[in-house]
Amino acid sequence: PSGAVKRRRVLLKLSGEVFGAGKLGVDMDTIRDIAKQIASTVDRVEVAIVVGGGNFFRGAQLSQAGMDRSRADYMGMLGTVMNCLALQDFLEQAGVDTRVQSAITMGQVAEAYIPRRAIRHMEKSRVVIFGAGAGLPYFSTDTVAAQRALEVHADVVLMAKNGVDGVYTADPKKDPTAVKLDHLSYDEAMARDIRVMDQTAFSLCKDNNVTMLVFGMEGEGNVARAILGEELGTLVTP
Ligand code: UDP
Repeated sequence: PSGAVKRRRVLLKLSGEVFGAGKLGVDMDTIRDIAKQIASTVDRVEVAIVVGGGNFFRGAQLSQAGMDRSRADYMGMLGTVMNCLALQDFLEQAGVDTRVQSAITMGQVAEAYIPRRAIRHMEKSRVVIFGAGAGLPYFSTDTVAAQRALEVHADVVLMAKNGVDGVYTADPKKDPTAVKLDHLSYDEAMARDIRVMDQTAFSLCKDNNVTMLVFGMEGEGNVARAILGEELGTLVTP
């Protein structure tokens, strides 16, 4: 409502890996838990979510196996919509009003992506779930997370990761001397060629002055903690 105190608004990116718990398809227990965590925050924070789809298809992999890249990417985008619907279902079960907005029109299952309407939903404490990426082949949902955050004026982009709890000085799976960083700048992230995020997402956030939090899914309640602005993971700033 106009005149009300402006609440924190976040854009949460959940990758397909999170949805599938490392496997093909959707791990319902994981999604139920994430939905409950999000539900515990919506009285204080406005939440929009960009959903990945790597638990179904990645365009680059299908194209390596011989498919036309663009068509493969559309399969990838359609996979994200299934994740959206699963998350929507568990959020509604947890008592949260939601809307799915898809970058590829499919009126029976989702609204079209309309940024001003998305903002209005959040102001009414609805969680908006963005599916189908940008609707464009050759893009990643990480890039879309940065773009949507900018377009709906989110205060921060929250990048949930599986198997790693933030940004390290080197790949911690390969280099035992790697140390976790609590904070770094986009310039440092790009110079170090940090692979935990795609470079386009970093540069969009840098150029437009948006902070990003990279955090791990493994800790209990981490999604809620990230949404509420507690200290965890790695903060990347302009
Ligand atoms: N994709 C695309 N354009 C977009 C977003 C996604 O073509 O704007 C396709 C691409 O093929 C990608 C797949 O959808 O591999 C799944 O998205 P992504 O790999 O970003 O999901 P995540 O890694 O987060 O699971």
